[in-house]
Amino acid sequence: MEIKERIQALKQKRNAVILAHYYVADEVQEIADYTGDSYALAKKAAGLPCDVIVFCGVRFMGESAKLLSPEKTVYLPAPKADCPMAHMASVAEIERVRREVDDLAVVAYVNSTAELKAHSDVCVTSSNAVRIVKALPQKNIYFIPDDNLGRFVKEQVPEKNFISCGGFCPRHNAVTKEDVLRAKAEHPSALVLVHPECRKEVVELADFVGSTAEILDYAHKSGEKQFIIGTEMGIFYRLTQDNPDKEFFLMSDRLLCPNMKLITLQSVLDALEGKVPEVPLPDRADEARAPLQEMLRLGK
Ligand code: SF4
Repeated sequence: MEIKERIQALKQKRNAVILAHYYVADEVQEIADYTGDSYALAKKAAGLPCDVIVFCGVRFMGESAKLLSPEKTVYLPAPKADCPMAHMASVAEIERVRREVDDLAVVAYVNSTAELKAHSDVCVTSSNAVRIVKALPQKNIYFIPDDNLGRFVKEQVPEKNFISCGGFCPRHNAVTKEDVLRAKAEHPSALVLVHPECRKEVVELADFVGSTAEILDYAHKSGEKQFIIGTEMGIFYRLTQDNPDKEFFLMSDRLLCPNMKLITLQSVLDALEGKVPEVPLPDRADEARAPLQEMLRLGK
């Protein structure tokens, strides 16, 4: 039996659902039951009527799925797939800021460890961050761990004070103004669509800034035919599937997340065969779950 057939057979046998982030390899997105960005997949994981979730993404995504569905068996096919940015804040700093700043909300991008979530008030994704921060009653926002997303949100919620922590996505932050200018010179008719994890100098040159789901939606609805894409290259699978009549150009070869590419068809099969460890329920699970649930409540 071919590997894809073995995956399908085991999926049925174990009543499993395969979720895949838009940044994983094409062949993994192809066999997934659902593809999406962090927000869509977190919502989906919370309501799935299955026994097993195979989460094709990085560690914080598997942790979030387990927190939202503790009764289910959750697998990360590549347990070593981690997001470096998820660790770029510290509990000690959160506690220090809480001591020093009144009227404060600690807002954690979902790209954060369960430990950091357990010390936060609410989670956000790049799809819902502006809406959720606007809805918070607190004046002061400690935004962890991504400074670029925090700056992007701050610009749209100027009535709040933002405190940043110095974190960044090593992939999106590696793109420079020169990359955008070069891509524009090569494709002068193309619109520039970028993710808010990119630097300010890149965002300022964009025609549209949004999450992966928002970039997909924008490109699909646009009457234009050419787009320069400033987010991880895995998004090209969906972009080209959904828009066979349009052309897409990657802004920089550095937009490749090696952690997302650790997930392969073989690792999905290994997970369904129980050959990789289950994602354990994180410590302080109730505290780590609360900001995720608050995000789902405020994001409605
Ligand atoms: S693309 Fe960046 S933020 Fe996303 S998982 Fe990779 S390192 Fe983390």
